[in-house]
Amino acid sequence: MTNETIKHALAPCGLSCETCFAHVDGGIRRASQALKEKLGNFGPYAAFFENLMREPVFANYPAFQAMLDYLAEGHCTGCRNEQCRMFKECGVRPCHQEKQVDFCYQCTDFPCEQTNFSKPLYRTWVRVNEKIREEGLAAYYAATQILSRYP
Ligand code: SF4
Ligand code: SF4
Repeated sequence: MTNETIKHALAPCGLSCETCFAHVDGGIRRASQALKEKLGNFGPYAAFFENLMREPVFANYPAFQAMLDYLAEGHCTGCRNEQCRMFKECGVRPCHQEKQVDFCYQCTDFPCEQTNFSKPLYRTWVRVNEKIREEGLAAYYAATQILSRYP
């Protein structure tokens, strides 16, 4: 596992872009594309099964399909390539470039007041970077591979 691979997957703040729903190379996008392929032209079948099986849940298929289409598209190439779609006021992205560190845990000013994060996100940021310091970057990255970003 190269450092470049890990940097592609993890934002400078330590959070995992690769496990974000929006990431073009993320697991959620890949799984959504695979499910789309497996479902094929399921829409008319969903209506048919709703009547045949008398299962009202099939009536929700159009909304499910719209969400699946969205997730399968991919919307972001990651924090190191473009501004985060969600945390538009994030202070870490410009700051880590100024400080010339790959991750906040490497910064002598960590933990700082530059992030602009909400209190819950700030606590997560501190916890994540302390964890990377304790366990090492490769071990932390490996753990993100098997966990959901949305526990
Ligand atoms: S930069 Fe933001 S929106 Fe883009 S993949 Fe990372 S967490 Fe998701
Ligand atoms: S000053 Fe704060 S936000 Fe900037 S790189 Fe250091 S720890 Fe990260």
